[in-house]
Amino acid sequence: MVGLPTGSPPISSEVFTVTTLELTDVTKVYDDAQGRETAVESVDLTVKDGEFVVFVGPSGCGKSTTLRMLAGLETVTDGTIEIGDREVQHLAPSERSVAMVFQSYALYTKMTARENMAYGLKHSTGLTKKERSEQVEEIAELLDIVELLDDVPNEMSGGQKQRVALGRAIVRDPDVFLLDEPLSNLDAKLRSRMRTELQRLQTELGVTTVYVTHDQTEAMTMADRIAIMNDGALQQIDAPEVAYDHPVNEFVATFLGSPAMNTVETEVERVGDAYRFRRGEAVLATVPAERLDLPTTDPVTLGLRPEDLRLGSSRGAPTFTATVTVAEYQGNDNFIHLSAADQALTARVPPETYPEPGETVDVSIAPRDIYLFDAETGRSLKTRGLTSRSTPERRLSASE
Ligand code: ADP
Repeated sequence: MVGLPTGSPPISSEVFTVTTLELTDVTKVYDDAQGRETAVESVDLTVKDGEFVVFVGPSGCGKSTTLRMLAGLETVTDGTIEIGDREVQHLAPSERSVAMVFQSYALYTKMTARENMAYGLKHSTGLTKKERSEQVEEIAELLDIVELLDDVPNEMSGGQKQRVALGRAIVRDPDVFLLDEPLSNLDAKLRSRMRTELQRLQTELGVTTVYVTHDQTEAMTMADRIAIMNDGALQQIDAPEVAYDHPVNEFVATFLGSPAMNTVETEVERVGDAYRFRRGEAVLATVPAERLDLPTTDPVTLGLRPEDLRLGSSRGAPTFTATVTVAEYQGNDNFIHLSAADQALTARVPPETYPEPGETVDVSIAPRDIYLFDAETGRSLKTRGLTSRSTPERRLSASE
């Protein structure tokens, strides 16, 4: 970073190099005393210039391993990683122009914030002491930590330490930021504030960023695109709202959203001009046949998002009966747990809807809101919407 006058308006992206990051067929196999394990399998992914991509998935799905391979902290078993036009998988971390921020902060405990931030600069640039000091102060202002510069980490709160760790990464002016669960050690309120702040910073700095979290809310709120992983494999990469409305499979559909999507195994019947989705005697949903390109009449998994279930009737939809088991008051809305056709369902309803446990209610869902998955493979057969094209065709590269 060069010559930013103190107190200048937000840093513009021109000051920084913006860089694409490209993973091709990236695979990691751990082969150690405990045995052989494929932690990451054939991941193909491009992160665009200045983009904020969040890797999300359950614990053990390979997110951190992927990030550590990008950073150079883990070797790559197979495949290539390019940063800009350079292949970097054989380069040492210090040669990759990446900066990583860890959940644990990893600050030097005996050094002040100023020394922690200046340390990397001292070793990776030919800047004079005065220049280093000026850069640290600029970034400290950006992060609002000027008053902490002479404190050591033990004198700081978790949030302050995390800001210093971020400052240390930013001051190095990397081509790529890599963040591994950086907010996990913060309390809920601070986490939410830091989320907003990190997003602002990333937009201002315009640095290509990869962020890892197991928290789908964090992923959905921060990312330009989310990359959802399961069992070492990348499932889908898309804008959060696209992945939510058009998941490629049942895993993605049920991973995103809270409360999670309800899934029910149903029989498919073609009756007149409609498909009916039936469980036992109950018809849970119908879709006009002309609006659905269903390749099968085998049983399918019906997906119902809690916020789409209506207590009452919906136009063009069948109504089925359910018993309220638990009503959870949430303030801005309520979660109503139901039992219908031997199946537990959760509905998310407006605050004024508050049925009593034991009550019998009518439930319905509009045809456009149902999701369908192949019962065997989990592949999506229909996502949100009602056109013959609501079968998702978006695959890993579709949104590029
Ligand atoms: P995540 O970050 O999504 O929680 P990780 O990338 O840490 O997942 O781990 C992916 C898989 O690789 C897990 O099954 C984990 O047990 C395994 N793994 C991670 N690090 C090592 C290691 N150093 N040696 C052997 N297996 C490992």
